[in-house]
Amino acid sequence: MGYKCVVLVKQVPDTKRITGKAMNDDGTVNRSALPAIFNPDCLNALETAVEIKERFGGTVTVITMGLPAAAAILREALYRGADDAILITDIKCAASDTLATSYILSCAVKKIGFDIVLCGRQAIDGDTAQVGPQLAEKLGIPQITYAEEFFSINNGAITVRHNIGRGWQKVRAKLPVLLTVTAEANTPRVAAAKKLMKFKNALAPVEILQKVKAENPNANEKTLKELAERKVKEFNDKGLLIKQWDIDYLGADLKWCGRSGSPTKVHRIQSVVLGAKESKNIEPTDDGISGLVKELIEDKIIA
Ligand code: FAD
Repeated sequence: MGYKCVVLVKQVPDTKRITGKAMNDDGTVNRSALPAIFNPDCLNALETAVEIKERFGGTVTVITMGLPAAAAILREALYRGADDAILITDIKCAASDTLATSYILSCAVKKIGFDIVLCGRQAIDGDTAQVGPQLAEKLGIPQITYAEEFFSINNGAITVRHNIGRGWQKVRAKLPVLLTVTAEANTPRVAAAKKLMKFKNALAPVEILQKVKAENPNANEKTLKELAERKVKEFNDKGLLIKQWDIDYLGADLKWCGRSGSPTKVHRIQSVVLGAKESKNIEPTDDGISGLVKELIEDKIIA
């Protein structure tokens, strides 16, 4: 028996260690200026999937869409119990907003097949929490957002605890289903030493080509291509190949990818820095609080 879990994971800039120019002039994130990490909520999604595999059997496939460097989090996912890893990387994905991102990811998830799709609740860079719900819509399956505890799966349905702000609900949904998982759901396991020793050598084809180029600086394009193809086969035979898919392989419609598939336009970025003189001390008394509320209403901040 067992369940086919597909986990969507995102490499994000470490927003706790911002140095230099974090944003480009066009309003996109300057990813090269920031250290990259595994998006925290995605680790909780992965842990949930690995727990499901351990309790009920099945497989865990992780997918990320990003630059070639995003393969690093796929290796990390393999250390933490994933069975298979797929990198979606293609210049045609560039400038994708959440709608285009979820469309491209939906093509990949459909290609793999699934019982349970797991996303993090939110990415710490884009911060929209839109990709999971949009993906569920595109897959035409039910979604449970803010899943903060996994209980069980029986009779073809999953039961989880779903956070509703000031409380929680126990929710049951028929499979196939999509969950967006919060940081409270579990404590992600650390990398297993044996898996780390094995998969630290796993590479995606794009990384193999980069390595071949570095090792053969004087070789022409044709030779490099042949050498890289040979290496890709060797990695595959050793079970160390991270799969790599592009838009053509996914059969995705270009009009829904990248800039053409992205209705969101960034018009302006404003950096808001609160100076000390803009802060105000409010007395923790009834008068202090009603004065503050009155001021907020007058300033039309609250109604
Ligand atoms: P959320 O919706 O907060 O993420 C929730 C969950 O969805 C994650 O925990 C994860 O499980 C899943 N998820 C989200 N993104 C991915 C992913 N890529 N792979 C796998 N799983 C994922 N970003 C770029 O990198 N390059 C660009 O050129 C670019 N151009 C943009 C242009 C515009 C106009 C806009 C608005 C955004 C652009 N972005 C770009 C940002 C990109 O759209 C978002 O990072 C992406 O759609 C995810 O949204 P989010 O970060 O809010 O994720």
